[in-house]
Amino acid sequence: MSIQLDTFLSHELHELHEKGLYRSLRILEGQQLPQARFDGRMVVNLSSNNYLGLNTHPALVRAAIEATERFGVGSGAVRSIAGTMKLHIELEKRIAQFKNVEACVVFQSGFTANAGTVSAILGKGDLIISDELNHASIIDGCRLSRADIRVFPHKDTEALEKILAETQALPGKKLVITDGVFSMDGDIAPLPKIVELAARYGAIMMVDDAHASGVLGKSGRGTIDHFGLHGKVDIQVGTLSKAIGAMGGYVCGSRNLIEYLYHRARPFLFSTSHPPAVAATCLAAFDILENEPQWIDRLWKNARLFKDGLDKLVF
Ligand SMILES: *Cc1c(COP(=O)(O)O)cnc(C)c1O
Repeated sequence: MSIQLDTFLSHELHELHEKGLYRSLRILEGQQLPQARFDGRMVVNLSSNNYLGLNTHPALVRAAIEATERFGVGSGAVRSIAGTMKLHIELEKRIAQFKNVEACVVFQSGFTANAGTVSAILGKGDLIISDELNHASIIDGCRLSRADIRVFPHKDTEALEKILAETQALPGKKLVITDGVFSMDGDIAPLPKIVELAARYGAIMMVDDAHASGVLGKSGRGTIDHFGLHGKVDIQVGTLSKAIGAMGGYVCGSRNLIEYLYHRARPFLFSTSHPPAVAATCLAAFDILENEPQWIDRLWKNARLFKDGLDKLVF
């Protein structure tokens, strides 16, 4: 091994230990259930993003098995060469319909959806205005784009407006970007105000709805639906890896936006598409969202029960 590399790695790992930031991975044995066995111990699992329990839902499991038997385990190519299967297109149409938008493109993950989209749309001379607590994949997308980046304090719409006013005369494209529901505290962005400001100052509006997908809005349509902002957000990102129970991310918007991403989003162009089982699983999940409202109801009931319990315990 390179001595240089080894010295670097040992030093960095030592630092992590020193700062108390070193972690070992918890190992899940068996299924990702509300009570699960991690590292040999049964625990109440409050840490997964499997909000609706769909990743063990029998209909989804069946869909994955059937698709594998019919179409094999892998797609065999990137989307733009030979890796677009009928199932991939069916899923994109299904999501577009669900979200009430013209079109949708599915990526390998929410991470690649954000990073690939932001970096495809913005470039040198453009400006991105981003909430300070936005997800890492947005931050990476911003950096990859080489656009200028201005960060506003968390959910601070006055600060956002100030930046928009200050930068009004700049010639490049402007993007206002926020998580719909934030990863760390689960709080919801003040979208009506943010959307209004973006429109007033002529900025592109993008919302990352990873945590709201399958959770907020009618049948889990997300924060845009929750706030009744249909048609007012140019770019909506969602994930298939959390409440939907499988894996993947998607971007919803105009037909032109999606056509453009088909040509310019680098993860779409240069990384192999989902195995058929994943696409089929996600299709089955959207059936569940629309036909079995009890899962979302139960999620909210559980959340309320837990919060009330914490209140009673004076947390
Ligand atoms: C989890 C998450 C992502 C990434 O989604 P994956 O599908 O897990 O890659 C993106 N944005 C936000 C806000 C997230 O919480």
